[in-house]
Amino acid sequence: MCGIIGYIGDKNPVDVLIKGLKNLEYRGYDSAGIALKNEEEIQIIKSVGKISDLEEKIKNTNIISSHMGIAHTRWATHGKPNEINAHPHKVGKITLVHNGIIENAEELKRELQEKGIVFQSDTDTEVAAALIHFYYQGNMKEAIEKASKVLKGSYALGIICDDESDTLYAIRKESPLIIGVGENEHFITSDIGAILNETKKYVLLGKDEVVVLKKDEFHVYQGENEIHREILESSASEEEISKHGYEHYMMKEMMEEPVLINQMIEKYQNHMESLPDIKKYKTIHIVGCGSAYYAGMIGKNFFEEEGIKVEVEIASEYRYRNVIYDENTLVILISQSGETADTIAAMRKANENHQDTLAIVNVESSTIARECTYQVLIEANKEIAVATTKAYLLQVFVLSLLSMRGKQDEKYLEDLHQLPQQLKVLLDKTGYYKRIADQLCNQEHVFFIGRKNDYAMSLEGSLKLKEISYIHSEAYPAGELKHGTISLIEEGTIVFAIVTDDTIQDKTISNLEEVISRGAKPIYIGCNASSYEEQFIVPKVHSRLQPILVVPALQMIAYFTAQKRGCNIDQPKNLAKSVTVE
Ligand code: GLU
Repeated sequence: MCGIIGYIGDKNPVDVLIKGLKNLEYRGYDSAGIALKNEEEIQIIKSVGKISDLEEKIKNTNIISSHMGIAHTRWATHGKPNEINAHPHKVGKITLVHNGIIENAEELKRELQEKGIVFQSDTDTEVAAALIHFYYQGNMKEAIEKASKVLKGSYALGIICDDESDTLYAIRKESPLIIGVGENEHFITSDIGAILNETKKYVLLGKDEVVVLKKDEFHVYQGENEIHREILESSASEEEISKHGYEHYMMKEMMEEPVLINQMIEKYQNHMESLPDIKKYKTIHIVGCGSAYYAGMIGKNFFEEEGIKVEVEIASEYRYRNVIYDENTLVILISQSGETADTIAAMRKANENHQDTLAIVNVESSTIARECTYQVLIEANKEIAVATTKAYLLQVFVLSLLSMRGKQDEKYLEDLHQLPQQLKVLLDKTGYYKRIADQLCNQEHVFFIGRKNDYAMSLEGSLKLKEISYIHSEAYPAGELKHGTISLIEEGTIVFAIVTDDTIQDKTISNLEEVISRGAKPIYIGCNASSYEEQFIVPKVHSRLQPILVVPALQMIAYFTAQKRGCNIDQPKNLAKSVTVE
């Protein structure tokens, strides 16, 4: 989501940058902007809305002639999506665009304000610009390096200095950024797809690397040292192109979650009645396999709160059981591909018993979508990583929407608006996930505990961890551990406690204490601050939305743990994406 493109060369930068921004549009954004620089001046044009709005504005402006520029699509995390907050941001001689989040922006802003720097926007980005400005004394590379030692968070920056009209700068820390190499021209971009019509040659950048880009040369630095980076040809790997600058599909797919959730909100928030009415059924069966089954467990809690009797079952069991149907039962089948063999069999069983069926799937043309009475598509686009992330999250989100159909709940609608942005902020907290991954990577066994939906989320967090990192992991209802499994707790065993439900928070904490007294090392994930040393606080939202702000953190923890252990993240051993055998 959101994107950066920068250009230096003989072409008209406006054309290159606007074309690039259009190629980045699929990532989702709320505003866009461009900065152009020549020997005399710098020109910044920004606009809220679509790239076509920015283009229109550019058409109506006297554009300076130039040979370099930077451009940006923004997905707001700090400050409203308005023109002032749109990028590029300029402080003193420094103009920059930014993807990601500066986690310590607030504290740095205060310090810089005390030093007399005045801020125009509400963004964390302007703080990065101000900090580089603060360190700049004629040497840009040095100023960027100094600032990067202070800036916390995940970010990629494209930077221009008023004093230089032949050099572009960039730095990459976590957020994707590559260099594009053309004939007498260079690019920076967060996604190679943005420049493929200009060049196929590119250079990958590592973490914390600073780029100095001129029209006919580029230099990459790690601290003091210049490092050699090979120029790659993008045709060599179609896969890399479709990963949009991320190392793995799984990361790319997690990063898509806020945009996809946002699309669903836009589609349904004022059209909830276009969803099937589940409340007319006396009984609901929810059937799925793996993560889809765990999504179903969350749905069960949502629907039961609406007074509907719900059973949730694994498809491979359901298909062979003597299932008792009420005269008015809805059977919900959840499957990413819509081709999961056991789920198809469960659906056919329900159809043969003349029950209404509802497909929650990603693929419109799939068997399950076609043979069910009703369909709700999760619209997750293609999911390539074997371990599901975005599809699971959208399944949960659809179940949430189904449970809210026909209800007037102001708090829910209010929280919906904040959700994509909060989710993006959550996903960007990579520093935290890596720290947890450091602790997890050498563990043999890990446990997750929680109650009600906190338990259902634990199941998914635990599954994600074991399927891609191969660490043995189990999730338990918090109250159940002491009925046997607690014997496995040893000195230092990591136990995650998911504690977002205030109604049973104290109970789960008591269960956590039980394992701590037997040597467990707790990792607390909850909405209220705790006294535990390792805690991750997530924003408190409507209970029917809370999983959307918890499970992605667990997905990230699994990802970074697997990465640390050198696992094949996108294709874990023994697993397949679409399980079309029984
Ligand atoms: N955190 C920055 C902002 O809110 C950058 C967001 C982005 O990646 O577009 O402006």
